[in-house]
Amino acid sequence: MALYVQKFGGTSVGSVERIKAVANKVKRFRDEGHQVVVVVSAMSGETNRLIELAEQINDEPTPREMDMLVSTGEQVTISLLAMALHRLGVPATSYTGAQVGIQTDSAYTKARIQRIDTEDLRADLDDGQVVVAAGFQGADDEGNITTLGRGGSDTTGVALAAALGADECQIYTDVDGVYTTDPRVCSRAQRLETITVEEMLELASLGSKVLQIRAVEFAGKYNVPLRVLSSFEDGPGTLIVAESDQEEDSMEEPLISGIAFTDKEAKLTLLNTPDVPGVASRILGPIADANIEVDMIVQNVAPVGDYTDFTFTVAKSDYKQTMQILKDQVLPDLGSGELRGDDNIAKVSLVGVGMRSHAGVASRMFRVLADENVNIRMVSTSEIKISVVIDEKHMELAVRALHTAFGLDKQDIEPE
Ligand code: ADP
Ligand code: ASP
Ligand code: MG
Repeated sequence: MALYVQKFGGTSVGSVERIKAVANKVKRFRDEGHQVVVVVSAMSGETNRLIELAEQINDEPTPREMDMLVSTGEQVTISLLAMALHRLGVPATSYTGAQVGIQTDSAYTKARIQRIDTEDLRADLDDGQVVVAAGFQGADDEGNITTLGRGGSDTTGVALAAALGADECQIYTDVDGVYTTDPRVCSRAQRLETITVEEMLELASLGSKVLQIRAVEFAGKYNVPLRVLSSFEDGPGTLIVAESDQEEDSMEEPLISGIAFTDKEAKLTLLNTPDVPGVASRILGPIADANIEVDMIVQNVAPVGDYTDFTFTVAKSDYKQTMQILKDQVLPDLGSGELRGDDNIAKVSLVGVGMRSHAGVASRMFRVLADENVNIRMVSTSEIKISVVIDEKHMELAVRALHTAFGLDKQDIEPE
């Protein structure tokens, strides 16, 4: 007998039919003698619908009320799934995040889980119940409802699996595993049998939404066996493994394991800023004070005592506010400079632990982009990834060209 935490995403519970199918799947596991905790998302599109409703009422809703609102989506699906299980004769009880014991800090809309009290949960499981828990939500120590950031049901699943010492956390979704890149953009993408925690962390943070980054962090930190699988068809999915496990199996690692991309960032440049100590902090300080996260940063080399250019990226949703801060606070403070901005950019990233021991990945990447006439606007690297910022209109072309050039294409279909 094993204990599984099974998380079903929005599409997997997107209709009455789908909810019934999930109930059947859960029943199968239970009939085999396993204990099951199910975590569900809101029905697909529901969280966005709720956010749009709020926008129609108030363009600056308080984060507390936003969490009160968006957490309702998951409350619908837990009760419907419990009812569907009852129809099949399976004893099941639904719980909100707070009821299932998920305690978070008070950072509304991006709360972090601090503690999970599993006592009641265990009692239910020992009693033969299937526990159906709402993903994405928790409560702070004053009982306020909080949410864990978009895609946060993945994190609920992995965190519950960690707290319970589950045998596996299974993330059921609308693709049958983690692919070399988003299969919706590149039909030649291949499912990976395994991927390391480290690579998955990079892919998630660089834009692959198949897993929320915090879920991967939890899995790494608490050694939770984590698998991504299809909720529509049976199959092995993709297992997220610790690096050491994978190295034993494969003599030679592929250079690149995956390609991530995002069009959700914007780029800002200050031209002709003074090249003296302290300027970078005078530019980024007011932005950090406004709680805006900065991603890539590039500063040109300037002749001594001269002027330089400073470029960085932020989330597209923070673009306007960042522009305003630069205009109102930073430029007057620096006393010189010219402001440029571009929110039609995309970031494309190659990820692979194999690139650690290989030179030349960057130059090969640049050659492929040059051959496609794609202009590179920024570059950043770390040990296992290379990211470039390009024009948004070239994003999909770049992803496909790189996918082919780095040997990631599925072999049995015609090139696009
Ligand atoms: P859920 O609603 O089940 O949480 P998401 O939409 O959050 O599902 O995540 C699944 C989606 O992630 C897929 O439909 C796919 O388009 C996208 N995706 C992006 N990158 C990848 C990748 N490397 N492998 C698989 N899916 C990916
Ligand atoms: N319903 C939430 C969202 O759409 C959480 C999730 O699905 O993981 O972001
Ligand atoms: Mg998701």
